Amino acid sequence: MTNTEQDRWSRVKGRLRSSVGEDVYSSWFARMDLEGVQDESVHLSVPTRFLKSWIQAHYAERVLSAWQAELPEVHRIDLTVRSAMRAATPAKEPIASAEATRRPERTDARPMQELRAVATVPVSASHDALGGSPLDPRLTFASFVVGRSNTLAHAAARQVAEGRRGDSVMFNPLYIHAGVGLGKTHLLQAVTWAGNAASERKVLYLTAEKFMYGFVAALKTQTALAFKEALRGIDVLVIDDLQFLQGKSTQAEFCHTLNALIDAGRQVVIAADRPPSDLESLDDRVRSRLAGGLVVEMGSLGEELRLGILRSRVAAARTHHSSFDVPDQVLDYLARTITHNGRDLEGAINRLLAHSKLNNQPVTLDMAEREVRDLIRPQEPKRIKIEDIQRVVARQYNVSRSDLLSSRRTANVVRPRQVAMYLAKTLTLRSLPEIGRRFGGRDHTTVLHAVRKIEALVNRDTALSEEVESLKRQLQE
Ligand code: ADP
Ligand code: MG
Repeated sequence: MTNTEQDRWSRVKGRLRSSVGEDVYSSWFARMDLEGVQDESVHLSVPTRFLKSWIQAHYAERVLSAWQAELPEVHRIDLTVRSAMRAATPAKEPIASAEATRRPERTDARPMQELRAVATVPVSASHDALGGSPLDPRLTFASFVVGRSNTLAHAAARQVAEGRRGDSVMFNPLYIHAGVGLGKTHLLQAVTWAGNAASERKVLYLTAEKFMYGFVAALKTQTALAFKEALRGIDVLVIDDLQFLQGKSTQAEFCHTLNALIDAGRQVVIAADRPPSDLESLDDRVRSRLAGGLVVEMGSLGEELRLGILRSRVAAARTHHSSFDVPDQVLDYLARTITHNGRDLEGAINRLLAHSKLNNQPVTLDMAEREVRDLIRPQEPKRIKIEDIQRVVARQYNVSRSDLLSSRRTANVVRPRQVAMYLAKTLTLRSLPEIGRRFGGRDHTTVLHAVRKIEALVNRDTALSEEVESLKRQLQE
């Protein structure tokens, strides 16, 4: 290659970089090489098929116009995958032609058809490489009931699902957390269905386990690069049950993927059973990245919402079993007594359906009481958070929460701080190091010391013991 050609290529790359932005440029074009220029054609190469098809599908015209700005006679870009040894003769395939750029309305223009044809490649390639987790066709926005506890999460999820390629991303990642059976998976799958149906974007839904095994499997077959690139071809990545993500290398990979996607302006949606700050096994950088978007909690299902879910389930069942009917009285009873989670509500309707079908009987209140007895559980103890403990303790002792987290060692702060750490240890499942971290970055031995100290004191000091009991009550109500 001549020096002039080299210089020209540098300028073309500069133009591309400023036209697509640094992030996109480094994701997709950093490893593109110039093979040569011949008359009207420029021959470029990239190291993988995935890169090739992605560039063809998304950036063909930009590449062409960057060249034309330097060399107006260029009318065609050939992009090939270079083999490891650069020996194979490249199959020539125009990725864009001046004709296509000038007359996009021409439906019979071959290059345009080719452009369209390859546009689907990243989609199936990513599926082959990753295998999205199976989706349940019933879990859509249409069947998702909105109530007080999930309004914000629902609105954010809708926003994500309705986004279009190239839209600026409003919050990234969208992180939804809630206890078991409160609708996380339902909402995430709804985003996936709606996103894939409505726009040209590719939405991939993966459980954290699938992410782990997909990745581990890919590593074993030494296609880690293909895996990563396929993942980068996703517009919206949805990961469910993030709390199950385990293992150092998986986490490193997750972190990497997350950063790559977010930096490239792709949307990431995550669900977990706890807030990012409580994902103890993840390292700090990942946690703060997760917390840097929109974090929404879905609370427990209120009675009205439970009633809504029951009605939607009955309506769904009736599409197949038109004779199935559940009287309002029974629905009210179920909504009042099955307070635990959405799964039990679904289970209750399934049982009533099975019972009434098998015995050919209408659903009555008596029958419902018998059938769902075991689904009625005593109220679950409330999930207590470290922040709540700090707030309640600070209020009781008339200090500020930042005093509790500070390094001040005056007696009026030391004792409340120890009490708060003791409560954190006894009322939550958090580990000592985690508690230390949440109390202004203290060492776990400091926490242990505080816990032992208060444990010893409550046995001797009735006033303190009563204070602690009262704090517990306030936290549990
Ligand atoms: P999670 O993933 O949070 O454990 P799921 O999304 O699996 O919970 O929900 C459990 C069950 O409750 C599912 O059958 C789901 O359809 C139903 N469900 C939960 N919340 C809602 C809701 N707001 N509207 C309709 N169904 C819901
Ligand atoms: Mg779930």
